[in-house]
Amino acid sequence: MRITKTFAETRAAVRGRVGLVPTMGFLHEGHLSLIKLAAEQSDTVVMSLYVNPLQFDREDDLERYPRDLERDVELATAAGADIVFAPACDEMYPGEQLTRVNVGALSNELEGPNRPGHFEGVATVVAKLFAGLQPDVSFFGRKDAQQLAIVKRMGRDLSFPGAVVGGPIVRETDGLALSSRNIFLSSEERNQALALHRGLMEAADLVEAGERSGAAITTAVFGEIDKAPDLKAEYVALASQERVAPCQVLEVDSFLALAAWSGTTRLIDNVHFDLSGDGFVADRGIRLTTHSVLYGPDGPAGGES
Ligand code: AMP
Repeated sequence: MRITKTFAETRAAVRGRVGLVPTMGFLHEGHLSLIKLAAEQSDTVVMSLYVNPLQFDREDDLERYPRDLERDVELATAAGADIVFAPACDEMYPGEQLTRVNVGALSNELEGPNRPGHFEGVATVVAKLFAGLQPDVSFFGRKDAQQLAIVKRMGRDLSFPGAVVGGPIVRETDGLALSSRNIFLSSEERNQALALHRGLMEAADLVEAGERSGAAITTAVFGEIDKAPDLKAEYVALASQERVAPCQVLEVDSFLALAAWSGTTRLIDNVHFDLSGDGFVADRGIRLTTHSVLYGPDGPAGGES
């Protein structure tokens, strides 16, 4: 395992087919599953670790974002990463930066209106990683379904030669989608947040039983969220993965996405629907069999509560 700080140093250290896993650190099994996938498909696995200020729409979120390089290097190494590229801001954004990457219409719906500038920040930093590291293949989680669609489209539109691969959502034993921000949830907030997964799974059952109406599918999710008094939904939407725009009726390659606040923590989750035979099948993700590395014996790792 090697820790690199510059693009040039990283390019000089790789050999063969290069797999890139971009992250903001504070790793959990969602990140680790992408590293494992990358290790199966590449000769050198580079995990980038950079908390990108450009993609934060709230100063307080950037300030409290959890960071622990030592812990991350240990976990990434065990999962099969060869290089952790952890650049300083001077390396990522040297001097005045005038260029921004904007993936137009794919950024306008779902997360877009709720997080102004977020996807421009994501697309810009990912374009820089693609340009600076020249990976043959990059791995992104389906947990961030809109981000995955945007990165795929950005790679295509800007002619980056590397492939972009999506990995399944990894969930806690009780269904909560893993997120570095989960460590901020109090046990009561975490308990209420489980309604998000329950709602998505209820909707998935409906779809697999033949329901096709976007309104009926989203109503099922709201039904669960409304039962949790302190959980505030920002949106619940059935959307096409290709257009990242809401659809009235279930389409091939659509997903049901949501964002909600549990206390001061914003959570997102989704379920993707694949056409199989003559019906739709929900991709419910992967459930861990024991609690994630985000929780130690004394509660959240490095968390506040
Ligand atoms: P982040 O560090 O939050 O920017 O995430 C880095 C990568 O890990 C992104 O491609 C995310 O989509 C992915 N990721 C985050 N959480 C999960 C999860 N629960 N399951 C699968 N992938 C995830």
